[in-house]
Amino acid sequence: MTTNRTFTMLKPDSIEKGNIGAILEKISASGFKIVALKLTRLSKAEAESFYAVHNERPFFGELVEFMTRGAIVAAVLEKENAVEDFRTLIGATNPADAAEGTIRKMFADSMGENAVHGSDSDENAKLEAEFHFSGREMF
Ligand code: GDP
Repeated sequence: MTTNRTFTMLKPDSIEKGNIGAILEKISASGFKIVALKLTRLSKAEAESFYAVHNERPFFGELVEFMTRGAIVAAVLEKENAVEDFRTLIGATNPADAAEGTIRKMFADSMGENAVHGSDSDENAKLEAEFHFSGREMF
């Protein structure tokens, strides 16, 4: 995978609220090309592994519970400077601090239930994409 790609998940709150279409539209309108896409669900072990960097944090149990409570949408996105530009598009972790027009400002309710994930580095984008998609599912 090239470095002009990032990985995202629409989190369970987005699916529950019926926001898949609106968020994907916002992503596309912001210049990202969807090169892989699926509706899926994380197991407890998968969520614990995905967020292992936070396993000492007080909110870890709540985070795993949230991320496994329903379906997610996993996607790989392509754009020049994808990782950084997508982090800008989603906004701050806490939607209360997120800039106007960002996905978290528009669609998220709280620090925990914040609508979307965006990879924080090219290296993690590649690992996260390959966790969810086989080579023949990425275009
Ligand atoms: P991100 O890179 O902006 O997603 O933020 P982090 O990597 O710091 O945190 C990962 C995820 O953990 C966030 O997107 C939230 O879903 C969740 N999280 C972070 N801080 C808190 C918190 O204080 N409480 C809860 N419940 N969840 C949190």
